[in-house]
Amino acid sequence: MIPAAFEYYRPKDMTGVLSLLGEHGDNARVIAGGHSLIPMMKLRMADVPHLIDLQGVGGLDDIELSANSIRIGAMVTQHDIIDHNGLASAAPILREAALQIADPQVRYMGTVGGNVANGDPGNDMPGLMQCLDATFTVVGLDGERDIPARQFYEAAYMTAREDEEVLTSITMLIPAGGYAYEKQKRKIGDYATAAAAVLLTKEGNTCKSASIAMTNLSDIPVYSEEAGAALVGSSLDDTAIKAAVTAVLGDIDPSEDNRGPVAFKKHLAGVILRRAIERAWSRA
Ligand SMILES: Cc1cc2nc3c(=O)[nH]c(=O)nc-3n(C[C@H](O)[C@H](O)[C@H](O)COP(=O)(O)OP(=O)(O)OC[C@H]3O[C@@H](n4cnc5c(N)ncnc54)[C@H](O)[C@@H]3O)c2cc1C
Repeated sequence: MIPAAFEYYRPKDMTGVLSLLGEHGDNARVIAGGHSLIPMMKLRMADVPHLIDLQGVGGLDDIELSANSIRIGAMVTQHDIIDHNGLASAAPILREAALQIADPQVRYMGTVGGNVANGDPGNDMPGLMQCLDATFTVVGLDGERDIPARQFYEAAYMTAREDEEVLTSITMLIPAGGYAYEKQKRKIGDYATAAAAVLLTKEGNTCKSASIAMTNLSDIPVYSEEAGAALVGSSLDDTAIKAAVTAVLGDIDPSEDNRGPVAFKKHLAGVILRRAIERAWSRA
């Protein structure tokens, strides 16, 4: 299918983007890599009379590392994440997760900003960013504001970002300890049937902190505070892992689709989470 007709704009700066968004309101949308939006326009699931390309706007594609924090511009691609050795050594879970997104062609175009702003429950970066406790910076005509990733998602394709705001960057502290991004998909290039992002720190043989987020098991990513709490203070014995799995099963709300029935997805969520916890622990 081909998309409905649209006007195409390529402003050279954010002022131009924001003024077009202000002028056209709900009838306008920004496009980054286009690998979620264009398919939706072709399927006529998105009607975008005014398409504003961010590719001409400077300053959105940098990765900045400081002693204890990371800032990723919204137009950084998934390939850039994989390719950046400094980033991979500061936060290896980012490369591990990005390598499991789609295929190289999609990753060359798909941006981190588009992935988190889209609000697609199947996207891998939102849960990952919740696990990392990242902050999203958005800008609008009234200025900038920061929104924690854990408070960004409201429903499928509905986020705390206003239509007239553009996501400009993602920041996070450099994570400590062990990590794992575990994803189950039907085939290479597919979205997750279930995925788990886990970060753990340990002191001796005791778990000191744990952060757990799940993907594509609800209409929004699920950061499970209770699951993390079930591991803290334990030596990650079977009882603690079972308690974490039980907590996650209480937080997710999968629905039946072509990736399987609800019972299968819940079972898979437990299997994926256990694998991710065990791998993160072995690296902590
Ligand atoms: C075959 C295929 C397989 C895929 N598999 C996966 C997968 O397994 N996991 C996964 O996570 N993703 C997957 N994707 C999606 C891919 O990663 C997308 O590229 C990504 O989710 C969106 O990034 P984009 O830059 O292409 O965004 P676009 O398609 O350009 O935009 C997506 C949405 O976000 C909005 N947007 C984009 N940038 C901004 C911004 N800076 N501020 C505000 N709003 C913005 C747009 O208006 C649009 O509504 C797949 C895509 C394809 C085509």
